[in-house]
Amino acid sequence: MKMKFTADIIIGTEVHVQLNTNTKLFCSCATKGEDIPNSRCCEICLGMPGSKPLVNQKAIEYALKLALALHCKINPDVIFSRKVYFYPDLAKNYQITQFEVPLGENGCIILDSGRKVKIERIHLEEDPASLIHPAGMEKSQYTLIDYNRSGIPLCEIVTAPEMHSPEEAREFMNKLKIILQYLKIFDENVCVIKADANISIKESGYIRSEIKNITGFKEIEDALLYEIQRQKKAIKDNEKLIQDTRGWNPDNKTTIRLRTKETEADYGYIIDPDLVKIDITEKFVKDIQKEMPELPEQKIHKFIHTHKINEQDAKILAAEYILAELFEQIAVEVSPQLAAKWLRRELIRVVNYNKMNFSQLKIDVKHLIELFSMIEKKEITETVGQDIMNQLIIKQFSPKEYVEKNNLKTVQDIAQLESLCKEIISKNAQVAQDYKNGKQEALHFLIGQVMRQMKGKADAKALKEMFEKMIKDE
Ligand SMILES: [Zn+2]
Repeated sequence: MKMKFTADIIIGTEVHVQLNTNTKLFCSCATKGEDIPNSRCCEICLGMPGSKPLVNQKAIEYALKLALALHCKINPDVIFSRKVYFYPDLAKNYQITQFEVPLGENGCIILDSGRKVKIERIHLEEDPASLIHPAGMEKSQYTLIDYNRSGIPLCEIVTAPEMHSPEEAREFMNKLKIILQYLKIFDENVCVIKADANISIKESGYIRSEIKNITGFKEIEDALLYEIQRQKKAIKDNEKLIQDTRGWNPDNKTTIRLRTKETEADYGYIIDPDLVKIDITEKFVKDIQKEMPELPEQKIHKFIHTHKINEQDAKILAAEYILAELFEQIAVEVSPQLAAKWLRRELIRVVNYNKMNFSQLKIDVKHLIELFSMIEKKEITETVGQDIMNQLIIKQFSPKEYVEKNNLKTVQDIAQLESLCKEIISKNAQVAQDYKNGKQEALHFLIGQVMRQMKGKADAKALKEMFEKMIKDE
């Protein structure tokens, strides 16, 4: 199919998302559990003669949720086909997938720029087994096969070639991941998300390369950046580009040719005679629609208009499902602006510092509410608040009890603070003079000295005013 492109760069993706069901797509084998190779398989996922597949209803529901969230048209029938290929990762010699009619089509994801990336189709298919090369791909004398993965449900999302930069491809993937989190059909600690990306540039007349099996969002951006450079260089060096399929090597950040592109027809698809057609009735779609959670766009709207926080904070909070949930629970107890500020600055800072992701976060929302309300009432200073936040992410405890026990309440005793400020000024006469002469940093130094003695329990703003007055009056 020849398309009329005009952009400098044309990118399309095929994303494979592992759905977080308990059992496989066509049998009752578990998808998770102990990692003993070939411990979670049966005659169906091993493709033994006479075995009959049965569709996992949950997988259909999950895929349908995703199709609805991506604004797809839902087809009334689910039909499965056999994609025939001979390779040990599929014992049946074919993969069950959807070909003729996908579950959903004609959807979209809207990028921050407002541009829509069209989703051509979403369909369900089974994952192949894992091939293990004990001494590495090149040196191994033999290959091991683990069929635990064989038959795990995947949802494939195919976009139109409508992205125009590696950054857009990364943004697309990220937006998709957030939607998956909201729908609770994907667990990022267990499930895998992989993308194939095709890319071509104007200079070649859009001769495309497809890069296979990229995991990670930074990786997809890097792989596409590399590929643009490679294609441009080939043209500059007068090499002839041909349509091909390439592999991404994340270690040396390059792509290598795997094969020149085969077409879909090579797979000899046939409708699977073992699987009966499933009707997707209007009632079924309506029932699923009723179960749909609020999605990021709706959350952002609500945060801005109901909770009155600024747009940037709203977008950052909505971009992490867990953060959005925490925010909504906290914003009814303390000022939403304060909650937004502390979640997006301090909680994100501590999570990043500890190299965690939000799904690993075990934090009790009650404890955050206690912490933020003490800050709101100025019972503790921000410095003390930050220190508690640092610890709260590692172990659970009541910030309120902790403050009581360790005597961390903000010192309100003006006389005590004033005498301490006087003492600091007399010990640092030159610094005080510097401030008088217009050196602003000098004041920060003085405040810092008091803060240190007070173990962060003084209000920095009050100290600033105190020092300003004292030094001026000297
Ligand atoms: Zn099985």
